[in-house]
Amino acid sequence: MELSAVCLLGKIQKEKITKELGEDTVNIFVENPNDTGAYNVVLEIIIDKSFNYVETKVTEFKNEYISKYLYKKGSSNGTDFTPTAKITTPEKTFQNKIIKSYEETINAYKKTKDVEFLEKIHNTLISNKDKILSDISKNFDSKKGTILTVVYDNKYIGDLEIFRDKLRQDAVKNYYLIDGKESRNKDKTCSICKEKNKEVYGNANVFKFYTVDKEGYVAGGFKKLDSWRNFPVCLDCAVELELGKRYLDENLSFKFQGRDFYLIPKLVFEKDTERILSILRMLKGELLENTYETMEEIMFKRLQTLENYMSFDLLFYEENNSALNIKLSVQEVLPSRFRKLYECLSNVNQLMQDCPKSEKIRVDFRYLNTLFPRKTHNRYFLEVVDIILSDKRIDYKFIISHITKHIIDKFNEEEGRYFYHESIKSYGFLMYLRLLNVLFKENGQVKNMEKFYWDIKDYNTREELFESFFNENMDFFSSPDKKAIFMVGLLAQKLLNIQMIKEQRTPFVNRLKGLKLGKKDIKRLLPEIQNKFIEYDAQYYKDILALASNYLINAGEKWTVSELDIPFYFSMGMNLERHIKLSNKEEVENND
Ligand SMILES: [Zn+2]
Repeated sequence: MELSAVCLLGKIQKEKITKELGEDTVNIFVENPNDTGAYNVVLEIIIDKSFNYVETKVTEFKNEYISKYLYKKGSSNGTDFTPTAKITTPEKTFQNKIIKSYEETINAYKKTKDVEFLEKIHNTLISNKDKILSDISKNFDSKKGTILTVVYDNKYIGDLEIFRDKLRQDAVKNYYLIDGKESRNKDKTCSICKEKNKEVYGNANVFKFYTVDKEGYVAGGFKKLDSWRNFPVCLDCAVELELGKRYLDENLSFKFQGRDFYLIPKLVFEKDTERILSILRMLKGELLENTYETMEEIMFKRLQTLENYMSFDLLFYEENNSALNIKLSVQEVLPSRFRKLYECLSNVNQLMQDCPKSEKIRVDFRYLNTLFPRKTHNRYFLEVVDIILSDKRIDYKFIISHITKHIIDKFNEEEGRYFYHESIKSYGFLMYLRLLNVLFKENGQVKNMEKFYWDIKDYNTREELFESFFNENMDFFSSPDKKAIFMVGLLAQKLLNIQMIKEQRTPFVNRLKGLKLGKKDIKRLLPEIQNKFIEYDAQYYKDILALASNYLINAGEKWTVSELDIPFYFSMGMNLERHIKLSNKEEVENND
């Protein structure tokens, strides 16, 4: 993964900050504690000029006070960079973040600077602890994000040079201190800008793809302090990386079926940057409003309109204890790919809508999330997303085995209530993969699929209808055995429909073995179904029985379909039965 695209975002931010606020690096390092908009309350512990505790004042968060609050998040166990902190509980935050921060500042500066006034503030906080804590508690509502800070003699933390200096120093130390030990080296090459003879730091990379203490990711040793060897970053790049990450968090972090990812634009022409970034910021706003389409579709739809000379990296990550673990990095996705992703999905959903039986079914990435839930199959989910976005090839066996399991589950759950729905959705998703040309890639690109409903009136014979059906379904029914299984499934459903009408129950379901059907079962079922039709005096499907029988004979003994996929093709026959109209005046109406 290259981080230069992130650094470019950071560089733009740095230039903007410097232009607006001047050269002081404090302005670069300081963070907005209310960046998410969830921390709107600020509790100010007021101390007067003579070091008397006055009150704890409730104020509203002000954007223009960011440099006064002077907030910068530290490690979750330790203090923040200055005595401004987000409240977890009044007691903990006051003691572990505020008081401790004063102590750390006094210790760091007592040899070089006059810290007497800090000691006095510290004393005031300690001697009024009970009163202050009770004042904080009175005004603290755990449901509202609240910031705690100290105001001495009308001066905020950021009005005191000692804290500004500490922020500047510690922000840089943060780039090379690992567990209190230094990881830096002089006269080396920066791994981002490739410049030589630089001082490089070992802890500046916030993207833990290159995590320094996890085996597997990093070439070379795993000693934490040696991490500069693996990802040495110079000061300029470290600052840009930090600002770039902050920009990503605020503007370019999205969710793909609940998984966090950064959408990182890679531009060829820097002059386009501002325009592209403003389009992407709009996307963020649009996502909050639109509820009909999924986030993924809106993203595809927007990004497809951009010019193909730019591309996007998608960085899927998880955040644990403020460490950022990269789970998947998808590289250089072009706007034309997003167009394809969107158009093929629209094609599939148009097909669903065109058939009255499936018009309420929508195919999108929610299906993939159902198939591969985050808790148990996240790896598979991300791998399929990677295949789809990067136009790779999906393994047929892999995807069909999971889909078959899903369909069998639905057949057996809640008396098959969602069997049709989930089978059609599964097939819709497979069609999507096929249209994208990631499934059966070796067979080449297929055209759009034109219909999802087959009516006898368009054909001379039923045989012609089925041959046409098999041909139009994009390589899914590529051999006689698959066709035979499909036909037997369809006939089984026809029989169940007749049973339902004649007996108001469907005892034949018990012959389907919970859909765990093999080759022998298919051969067994055909004569069983035939006998039942005779029994019910419902012999409308003689030609189809003959057709199924023909396919079985053609399949011979060597079936191409794997035993495990048989339930899939069988259930397609059972469910697509509703999508195939065989007679203008069908003798038995379907039971749906
Ligand atoms: Zn550099």
